[in-house]
Amino acid sequence: MSSYDHFSYDTDREVYSAARARALEALLIKKGVITGSTVDKVLEYFKTEMGPFNGAKIVARAWVDPAFKAKLLDDANAAIAEMDFPAGMSGAEGEHMKVAENTAAVHNVIVCTLCSCYPWTTLGLPPYWFKDPTFRARVVREPRAVLQEFGVTLDPAVQVKVWDSSAQIRWFVLPERPAGTEGMTEAKLSTLVTPEAMMGVAKVKVA
Ligand code: FE
Repeated sequence: MSSYDHFSYDTDREVYSAARARALEALLIKKGVITGSTVDKVLEYFKTEMGPFNGAKIVARAWVDPAFKAKLLDDANAAIAEMDFPAGMSGAEGEHMKVAENTAAVHNVIVCTLCSCYPWTTLGLPPYWFKDPTFRARVVREPRAVLQEFGVTLDPAVQVKVWDSSAQIRWFVLPERPAGTEGMTEAKLSTLVTPEAMMGVAKVKVA
């Protein structure tokens, strides 16, 4: 059981959502809007081309390249466009991304209080708990308590900032580079970065 499980829905709710999604898909196929393989193709795209492995590479580059980091914080989409990614990083929910940098003094966490806005091209599809009304309501009211439940214990002196994503701006977090990684290559560093760290609900740890 992961530390995120307490933000998941009840099993019957998931079954209900899945049945509703299947009914909607069947109707769209019947009406000729999509074909039988459309949904599979979209899921495959986010499994192989657009996912948290992209965000991890961006974080690792920012850790080793101060000029890139400055640009990333100033204009995320422009900085990301300089990297070698598949076309479309600024499409498919990747428009208008913004990056918040964690430091020793500031810890950032992302949410979409309205629904589930999320930078798909860098972080992939949002996990179930990110859409949970309980997480969305609580993380803005009592972020330290929620972070504690995720296993992130912050010193009271550390400022917590909660960034609310929307259809206009989609946030992700540049986590702190952990100690003990000084000799690591950029490629090795990227393997340490998890989606949770880029959401601000975990820190990057050296394996
Ligand atoms: Fe949303």
